[in-house]
Amino acid sequence: MIKFLDLQKITAKYADEIHAAARRVIDSGWYLLGEESKQFETNYSRYIGTNHCIGCGNGLDALTLIFRGYIEMGVMKAGDEVIVPANTYIASILAITENGLKPVLVEPNLDTYQIDEEKIEEVINEKSKAILIVHLYGQCAYTEKIGMLCKKHNLKLIEDNAQAHGCKYNGKKTGSLGDAAGHSFYPGKNLGALGDAGAITTDDDELAKTVRSLGNYGSQRKYVFRYLGRNSRIDELQAAILNIKLRHLDEDLELRKKAAHRYIKEITNPNIITPIVKDREAHVFHIFPIRCSLRNELQIFLHENGIETLIHYPIPPHKQECYDNWNNRSFPITEKIHREELSLPISAVLTGQEITDVIHAVNKFNA
Ligand SMILES: *Cc1c(COP(=O)(O)O)cnc(C)c1O
Repeated sequence: MIKFLDLQKITAKYADEIHAAARRVIDSGWYLLGEESKQFETNYSRYIGTNHCIGCGNGLDALTLIFRGYIEMGVMKAGDEVIVPANTYIASILAITENGLKPVLVEPNLDTYQIDEEKIEEVINEKSKAILIVHLYGQCAYTEKIGMLCKKHNLKLIEDNAQAHGCKYNGKKTGSLGDAAGHSFYPGKNLGALGDAGAITTDDDELAKTVRSLGNYGSQRKYVFRYLGRNSRIDELQAAILNIKLRHLDEDLELRKKAAHRYIKEITNPNIITPIVKDREAHVFHIFPIRCSLRNELQIFLHENGIETLIHYPIPPHKQECYDNWNNRSFPITEKIHREELSLPISAVLTGQEITDVIHAVNKFNA
């Protein structure tokens, strides 16, 4: 069976370094807010190209803390609107609603699966305060037009960079294109810890200070509490592991891209739609999404041929029980993607033979 994601193999690739780092942290007796996390914040802000990086517990917390930070700064208040793609992973939207803000869902473009820049301006009104773009599947969602709309309407541009570490737009990394970005280092992400971890990147000094405090019980000085904070920090063990994996990230992304571009070139089955990639730098393929009108049949066929696939995602946010007041709304493009999308195995440890086997099996599928 070709696994969708072989985390054991991914970790084994750097096992010696990871074991040594884990041993170092374990033996040090210092497990939180220490040298490893400080080092990771420096390394990662340098990698992304921002003045600040603030480690936190996970990607959802990173996004939640950004909105909460803007609320504490008086930039946003409960009831304000945040524009977000309708086909994103639920966490992007949870970060908005958790802060009492209102998500305004916008359809994606069917060629890129990213928020449709042509459908944004029509939903902007005096309550709009931000656009949360999501670099879904690892592809850059930023466009010049989106940047221009944020300037014109005085909106914050926030990036959900959970799936796109290392992705570039005109030479600049995603995560440095807007006012602030949330990153996830969930184990399955392109840059993955061995547990939960996340980070916020920004050039905004005040936001950086506020979110750091909010993630540390609302404290800026020990035992003095300015905000009703929470506890969301990156731990030393995860930071030490991420410091190692960050050093290898670009070579791993190259391998991912190589696999993806083989898929794009060699999958010739007319029933399958492969991603359209105009700029090789602007897609790091966290996910390799294909579309097929007989998606469920294709998934069964591939399973019978020894290939594990996943669906990203089976149910769109507006059809989820947790957002039941939206269940009757219609987002046809989003629903079409959720009906037709299938994710092929992709990683830095997939072998050339495995890639060939996937391509052959997909090409063999008779619709
Ligand atoms: C994974 C993910 C998140 C959440 O990150 P966690 O670390 O799992 O909390 C947010 N947004 C997107 C698009 C994601 O893929």
